[in-house]
Amino acid sequence: MLNSFFKNRYLLLSLQFFTLIVFVLLIYGSIGIATDDASFAKILRNTNLPNLIVWSYWWPLIIVTAIIFGRYWCSICPMELITSFFGKIGLRNKPGNFMKSGWIITLFYAIVLILGIHTFAIHRIPQYMAIYMLVLFATAVIVGLIWEKRTFCTHVCPIGHLLGLYSLLSFNKLGVKDTDVCKNCKTKDCISKANHYKFNARSCTSELYPPMISNNSDCILCGQCFKSCTKDNVIIQKRRFAADLFTNISLRWSEIAFFMIVSGFVVYELLSEWSVSKEIIMILPNYINGSLGILGSAKGTVKAIILFVILPLIFFSILGILKKIVANEKWKSAFNQLVLALLPIAASMHLLKAILKTTSRIPYWEFVVSDPSGVESATKIMSNPELVKNNYLINILAPSIDVISVILPILGLVLSILVIRKQAHNNISSRVISFIAASLYVLIFIITMLEWRGLY
Ligand code: SF4
Ligand code: SF4
Repeated sequence: MLNSFFKNRYLLLSLQFFTLIVFVLLIYGSIGIATDDASFAKILRNTNLPNLIVWSYWWPLIIVTAIIFGRYWCSICPMELITSFFGKIGLRNKPGNFMKSGWIITLFYAIVLILGIHTFAIHRIPQYMAIYMLVLFATAVIVGLIWEKRTFCTHVCPIGHLLGLYSLLSFNKLGVKDTDVCKNCKTKDCISKANHYKFNARSCTSELYPPMISNNSDCILCGQCFKSCTKDNVIIQKRRFAADLFTNISLRWSEIAFFMIVSGFVVYELLSEWSVSKEIIMILPNYINGSLGILGSAKGTVKAIILFVILPLIFFSILGILKKIVANEKWKSAFNQLVLALLPIAASMHLLKAILKTTSRIPYWEFVVSDPSGVESATKIMSNPELVKNNYLINILAPSIDVISVILPILGLVLSILVIRKQAHNNISSRVISFIAASLYVLIFIITMLEWRGLY
């Protein structure tokens, strides 16, 4: 069913137009709604309908989908539509080596996280979210106008590495039915230059050749090769969960750095669910902010740099150096192994965060229906916080969430151990160091979840 869906000439395209309209409506519904009051913003983010949709449902759904099924969000992303359209009429310059290195994606993500979210609160203030979405649109247009093919999706999109890394776990893979058909294929419509700028049934503009795709990270499942292949040979296949992690996958330094940031972000996101663990994780940022006399939103910048850049860098560097000295690993290999070892835990915890976030927002549903802008509702809730407490549905879901909160980190650890067993075959000390890294990382989550949910 999925394959016939992808082969249909107009289905994905129609969905892209649909998401484009939704994006425009989300911007329309959030622009002009702002506040300087941080406490009010914490409520407004849940009562403004576009803000609630984007950060509490759409974004978690993208993460969950990427981990389980692959990059299906990219299949219907309106940015791909926009950047491909402007690519048709643009200058078609070739991207340079820096762009191809993946560092722009890592830097763009770091800027969105550190400045966008933790300094200007684009996830809480609808007006800023709208500006962020407009910046994304503008970037997709400008990159499309200047660089060739689909450079925005391949080398610029701030979530490109995140979806690429998480889709290494997914159950699906794009490939071909019969490689011999490809060998004998004279026209190679799936990569033909003549098809690069067609509006529909394009050849791959992500520099991929369907019979040679070795892992899930780069294919954005746009479906264009399905439509351009005249031999009907492209297919989405089922495969073993996380199969890519058991191959000799070699990440770029930009992806390794990206994962370090994500690993710190996931720790912050999960630990900030519980006030006690949040206080603990904020000790160092608060101390540094206090010592340096930093005030206002700049405190968020410092916090984000410490938690998402400095501490993960220290953690990975210590273990990387140990791998280098004790296990005689090469630098790149040492960090590559650490990332692949920790990836299942980070993904499982991102999954848990998605579940916690989407369920915790249930009490706000009734408010966004009657007041989509959310300002009146936020004012009411601010004066009477009891309005969003003791929700019936949340109480019913609580026992299941308790179980999931414990099972997910354990499943993440089990998968990590299987990945580590496969790594560095003859190098026991290297594997032991990866195991120590995975155990330390997962313990942070397990202890927090057990304590927070009162499960022992
Ligand atoms: S995927 Fe299709 S178009 Fe591409 S080489 Fe194979 S048979 Fe030819
Ligand atoms: S191989 Fe290329 S054209 Fe085919 S789905 Fe993946 S990104 Fe799209």
